[in-house]
Amino acid sequence: MDKEHRTFLNLFTPGPVNISAQARDALGAPLVHHRTESFEEILTGLIKNLKNAFQTADDVSVLTASGTGGMEAAVTNLLSPGDKVLVPVTGKFSARWAEICAAYDVEVCRIDIEPGESPAPEQVRDTLRRTPGISTVFLTHCETSTGSLTDVKAVTEAMNDLERSEGPEVLTCVDCTSSLCVDELRKDQWHIDCAIGASQKGLLAPPGLAFVCMNDRALGRMASAVLPRYYLDLRKYYEGHSGAPFTPAISLVCAAKASLDRIISLGLDKVWMACRSSAEAVTLVMKSAGLRPVATTQSNAVRAFWTDALDPEEVSGILRNKHGIVVAGGQQDLEGKILRVSAIGKKRSDILDFAKAFEATMAEVGRPFALGDITNELETILEEISIWE
Ligand SMILES: *Cc1c(COP(=O)(O)O)cnc(C)c1O
Repeated sequence: MDKEHRTFLNLFTPGPVNISAQARDALGAPLVHHRTESFEEILTGLIKNLKNAFQTADDVSVLTASGTGGMEAAVTNLLSPGDKVLVPVTGKFSARWAEICAAYDVEVCRIDIEPGESPAPEQVRDTLRRTPGISTVFLTHCETSTGSLTDVKAVTEAMNDLERSEGPEVLTCVDCTSSLCVDELRKDQWHIDCAIGASQKGLLAPPGLAFVCMNDRALGRMASAVLPRYYLDLRKYYEGHSGAPFTPAISLVCAAKASLDRIISLGLDKVWMACRSSAEAVTLVMKSAGLRPVATTQSNAVRAFWTDALDPEEVSGILRNKHGIVVAGGQQDLEGKILRVSAIGKKRSDILDFAKAFEATMAEVGRPFALGDITNELETILEEISIWE
């Protein structure tokens, strides 16, 4: 076994993140059979918590799949061949919506947006007005490749204005995989017709579960959508079987339930605030080392920074090999240009470890900065994340 497999790594990556003690304990428990009352209770409890996490009265389907499986389920359950959809693309994850749709021969109208920016409400509204026949808009709440947060509420308001004045129903489907339990999200108030989440980010649980949450408009669409689907046919999840038409990833359901129980009991507002504070603490450290944030409106799920003359691979290599801290680099066009740091669920001590490791790493690569200059400011921010202790 190599060193990496033996040592605990402090994951500052935007998924998966280190799992909670509650999730770890649940994973170690004996297996429950899924056709029993005890499992039904656990799954029902998870779904109840997820409704709280999404801030919705709608039912949530729990799929054995990573987040992308939830995205694919949304596409195949809401669309039919030849449908036309709108996808604002600001990075790798929003581009995935366009790729999934294209794989199913759905016509994709793209709005290409600079990395770090988010789709503007007017841009979406004007494109819908200019392009008749669009049935669905696919958004990404936090674009995890750049850390930029979309103002979903403003976009759906602009869409609703248009729908009220000009007619055709356009559904909004939002990928909330990295923002769920991390950034403020109010599915019902924000008129999101279909929202997607996954287990390995804000839930502090292992990867392997995807969540799809649809309102009545989306369910109405699902009834008439005819794209091919079998395993991810969500009608099966609504018809009997207590939400588990096939053998679910039982252990993951138990782990996600235990972890989310705790998050909900801490209070979702407080958890959002703690995630913001830990992200702000990371940003303070990175800025004081001279790195500029990529996103104009930054999510709490991940913060991305331009590395300019620095080699991000070298920096992340030192952090990982000498300090046991894992951060992420850029993807696709942003490879070699940025570092991404996620502080979801991090405690005060984790953030301080990160700050010291980053100070040592920057000194090693010949770009020293003094953590001492920001100690007071950092301590003030860290006082706000005591909920995890
Ligand atoms: C993590 C993530 C996903 C899901 O990725 P999987 O690897 O399939 O779990 C989807 N969208 C966003 C924005 C993400 O951050």
